[in-house]
Amino acid sequence: MQETDYDVIVVGAGFAGVACAQTLAQHGASVCVVDRKRDLGERIHTTGILVAEALQHACLADLPAALLRAVPHVRLYAPNLRSVRLAAPDYRFYTTDTPALMRWLGEGLVECGIPLRLGTPFRDAQRTGDHWRLPGIGRARWLVGADGATSRVATCLGLGRVEQWLYGVEHEFDGVALREPDALHCFISKHYAPGYIGWVAQTPTGVQAGLARRHVPGSSAVPDIDGFLHHTAVMTGLPAPRRPDSVRAGLIPCGGPVRPRQRDGVVLIGDAAGMVSPVTAGGIHAGLRHGTAVGLAIVHNLQQGDASLALPAMDAVPAFRAKRLLRRAFDHAQFDGLFNLAFRTPFMRCVAEQLYFHRRGHAVHAPEADASARID
Ligand SMILES: Cc1cc2nc3c(=O)[nH]c(=O)nc-3n(C[C@H](O)[C@H](O)[C@H](O)COP(=O)(O)OP(=O)(O)OC[C@H]3O[C@@H](n4cnc5c(N)ncnc54)[C@H](O)[C@@H]3O)c2cc1C
Repeated sequence: MQETDYDVIVVGAGFAGVACAQTLAQHGASVCVVDRKRDLGERIHTTGILVAEALQHACLADLPAALLRAVPHVRLYAPNLRSVRLAAPDYRFYTTDTPALMRWLGEGLVECGIPLRLGTPFRDAQRTGDHWRLPGIGRARWLVGADGATSRVATCLGLGRVEQWLYGVEHEFDGVALREPDALHCFISKHYAPGYIGWVAQTPTGVQAGLARRHVPGSSAVPDIDGFLHHTAVMTGLPAPRRPDSVRAGLIPCGGPVRPRQRDGVVLIGDAAGMVSPVTAGGIHAGLRHGTAVGLAIVHNLQQGDASLALPAMDAVPAFRAKRLLRRAFDHAQFDGLFNLAFRTPFMRCVAEQLYFHRRGHAVHAPEADASARID
């Protein structure tokens, strides 16, 4: 395979890698993106729910409406399945046709003139002078590791590695409808989702239902998604048991940014850098922003020709301090009885609105008999 010289090689065509590569190309850098997948819509590790702010990002500005479904409410369930409906004025979440979204992102790279080499796994890189050489791919001044939560770039090149994870599993059911499709259904349950939540959402193509739990390396505990679907069926209207049309699973970083994230012209972004909210486990918007910020820092570096210039800009990332504290609290003091008791108090509502809408929320008090019914 012919090798080519680039300013930057980006490993990984996920959200962070695409944002970084597009930023670099827009500023005139020569950039190549490699991904081990042959089809970016396969073996996806994300639900693909977008916060409204993510759609403001340049990468997603022209996203076809058919790939999105607006979800204006959150229905949050206590462990005893009592629920409250939350919303914020003019705020939306968006579920996506995620395989089509990932393919569309890849097509966007090609339209920008960025070489996208699919079916090309990163295995190793050698430092030659002030370049990185990736055998079979080429040489570059900068190497960007956007290769996800178990980054091989980080492992091979001695950068910080993600060490705290949630493990998420999701089932997809094509062509079915929820009883309350305009809400993102979120279930607090130590039994089914210790350390996180379960979720059910209407997407452009059907329904996604998932569970994530604290991942303990070496443990074989997997989320009991069949039990969860059975438990919540009366609330969601999703008949259980039901064979999924597809299954997604993956690790979600939840310990905050890794260290170090860069050295000698190699830098990590997105999940590889631990850039995921430790509480909500949302990493798409964070990855888009981080990819863009690092892309701009590299552009600056390439213009100035001094590697140290890029350091401050690349280190300006959210530390997620408050969210890491909340994560610790959730890990060590998640008691279903406590949530059941506190569930409808103003304090709980305030915390929920802060987490989902960043304080923009207000509870919607419209009565919805069956969805807020209690099951004993
Ligand atoms: C089950 C689950 C559900 C989630 N749901 C949401 C959600 O609804 N909303 C949200 O905001 N966040 C969600 N997240 C988190 C979010 O998906 C990630 O934070 C986000 O996708 C990270 O983007 P990224 O570009 O950093 O990495 P990724 O999306 O993981 O992309 C990494 C890319 O690198 C490629 N790659 C990996 N190794 C190599 C290699 N050796 N060589 C070449 N290529 C390689 C992969 O093929 C992949 O294309 C979820 C995560 C999981 C696991």
